[in-house]
Amino acid sequence: MNALEVKIKDTFGTDLAHVSNEQIYVALLQMVKEEASKKVSNEGKKKLYYISAEFLIGKLLSNNLINLGLYDEVETCLQQYGKSMAQIEEIEPEPSLGNGGLGRLAACFLDSIATLGLNGDGVGLNYHFGLFRQVFRDNLQTETPNPWMEETSWLTKTDTTYRVDFGGMSLTSRMYDIDVVGYEGRTTKLHLFDVDTIDETLVGDGISFDKEDIAKNLTLFLYPDDSDEAGRILRVYQQYFMVSNAAHLILDEAVARGSNLHDLADYATVQINDTHPSMVIPELIRLLLQRGIQMDEAITIVTNTCAYTNHTILAEALEKWPSHYLQKAVPQLLPIIYELNNRVNDKFHDKSVAIIDDENRVHMAHMDIHYGYSVNGVAYLHTEILKNSELNNFYQIYPEKFNNKTNGITFRRWLLHCNHPLANLLTELIGDGYKKDATELERLAQFADDSCVLEKLLAVKNEKKRELAVYLKNTQNIDINPDSIFDIQIKRLHEYKRQQMNALYVIDKYFEIKEGKLPQRPITVIFGAKAAPAYTIAKDIIHVILCLQEIIANDPEVSPYLSVVMVENYNVTLAEKLIPAADIHEQISLASKEASGTSNMKFMLNGAVAIGTEDGANVEMHQFVGDDNIYIFGESSDDVIAHYEKADYVSRDYYEQDPTIKRAVDFLVSDTMMAVGQRENLERLYHELLNKDWFMTLPDFEDYKATRNQMYADYEDRMAWAKKMLINISQAGFFSSDRTIAQYNEDIWHL
Ligand SMILES: *Cc1c(COP(=O)(O)O)cnc(C)c1O
Repeated sequence: MNALEVKIKDTFGTDLAHVSNEQIYVALLQMVKEEASKKVSNEGKKKLYYISAEFLIGKLLSNNLINLGLYDEVETCLQQYGKSMAQIEEIEPEPSLGNGGLGRLAACFLDSIATLGLNGDGVGLNYHFGLFRQVFRDNLQTETPNPWMEETSWLTKTDTTYRVDFGGMSLTSRMYDIDVVGYEGRTTKLHLFDVDTIDETLVGDGISFDKEDIAKNLTLFLYPDDSDEAGRILRVYQQYFMVSNAAHLILDEAVARGSNLHDLADYATVQINDTHPSMVIPELIRLLLQRGIQMDEAITIVTNTCAYTNHTILAEALEKWPSHYLQKAVPQLLPIIYELNNRVNDKFHDKSVAIIDDENRVHMAHMDIHYGYSVNGVAYLHTEILKNSELNNFYQIYPEKFNNKTNGITFRRWLLHCNHPLANLLTELIGDGYKKDATELERLAQFADDSCVLEKLLAVKNEKKRELAVYLKNTQNIDINPDSIFDIQIKRLHEYKRQQMNALYVIDKYFEIKEGKLPQRPITVIFGAKAAPAYTIAKDIIHVILCLQEIIANDPEVSPYLSVVMVENYNVTLAEKLIPAADIHEQISLASKEASGTSNMKFMLNGAVAIGTEDGANVEMHQFVGDDNIYIFGESSDDVIAHYEKADYVSRDYYEQDPTIKRAVDFLVSDTMMAVGQRENLERLYHELLNKDWFMTLPDFEDYKATRNQMYADYEDRMAWAKKMLINISQAGFFSSDRTIAQYNEDIWHL
């Protein structure tokens, strides 16, 4: 009997032939937890704490089995009983502990930290209902809770609890752990804090709940609605709860490892992932004061311990909390923040670098930069923009703190787990060294003109496209034609990511088909995206896409050549199915606005070809693959930044002067659209594009259209296209999160 058979026998007293898939799942989960706990945990004097509001970890079963080296054995065993891992995977709920790229990055980083054997844990919150579950109704997004914790889950309840004080009350926290299993062995932990008093019945219609009852609501949702003050203050409560627990844990563990706290920076380093955990700085100072250290020294110690990662240049995303929010939720921190601010003001007579502004708002990023030892951006261009424009005032003061760490993805999940046939083909061609040393993928280049290899690559893609078609049929009752071109845009819905430009292209194609200008091969345009519940325009864009989906599906003139599909509730599980099946991926953000992107890397690794702007990590991808293997279009980031400075962009000019643009934009409010959509939403988006278009969709449209059409034409030379796929895969090594994490350690953490 192998391990799984033994486990089934011990747990259920019977054999594999007589248990349900649910029971197999439970047995496997317990088996993996036991195996993981036997593995060596990473150790060392100094420890990293990666604090993040999000960890978008995805389903863990298959990935953990792969990393433990047990996957093949389990799969073979299941097959003997006519079952497969794919069926068992379906049963596992996906933890909805993240929103998008930032949370997925944190998850990839934990995998690489464990794999590289670094001493580092993740710290976050245990949201009961996650972000939200997206449901489409009447071509609109609605939100419902996304429960994911079950009786048996990856969470292990620990005995670690802390008292966390808020203005006028205190709560007792509880730490839950999830083992993070690195490839071939070593483990680390994801610590998720929670309170026992959470009341899930508080949630009423959709995702609404009493925002003032903190003891009952604190960890219900990630990013609770912040369109009113109560919601924004709840976010402050959550953030403080996260970092106060983290700070207690950090100090306790450092002392246990021999620190006298004066030397804390030799024992601990904290990576602040975006501004949500920024209050860890004043909280650590506060706790050090309590333990008898003087203010000057406490500030120095904490400054040498904390490092900050910036993820965005969008002003509205850089958190600024009114001081009266902090006064209400965490009054004990305010004197410390005032002290930090006074020291800044004494030293620099430049209001733009103050922590507290004239309107009494606390700029969290400013606190991170003054009182941390490292500030990093997440792709080359992003870091350059931080240094040269967005954070230039800070760069002038602290040039030595600024550094770049281009994001990466874990190849275990985004290749070994999600694309078995491709991983097998690669192993057949270049051996399996690439699984731990991603740069070995370069050896693929020798096959760039080998038609036999290129045929095999196309066959793998074909297989994954067919698998996706079956999956979407079974799970979402969506029909797609696997012989069409799969052109995919999956990412959070935001105006800067410009899903609206893709939709305008679809409208233009619809008109061309109506005019008899037929594509050489059918095209399937696939979208996946959640919009923040209070982000009106983003939801309007979803509405437009869903209306287009309905109109085109019901139009027999158009539907044989074009189809639009918006998958519901885009998440990691769907990404794992969509990415290996993509022919083309859309990375079409307004240049300068996308910090890095990571889906671009996942697609590249799976042999899809990008159409994109010279933005985020696309810049580096372009350098790696060269002009022939990526389709770049649109204005440069310099041009865009200049438009904003001069405020010289007038969208109506483009609308009036370009009949193609006019036709597409007008279609939004056509009778055809009104017949399936809501007038209010459609008119709002129409006016937005016509009168504002803050993210400059219209100037890039013609170039986008021409580039995308060229791409479809090039696709018809199948061998030339397969070569592009192969070059993309062979150049993906740089984008392994193992490389990113090695650089964090080398330049920032020094573990
Ligand atoms: C990778 C990933 C993202 C990030 O995608 P971008 O296109 O880089 O914004 C978001 N959501 C999920 C589920 C992902 O897997």
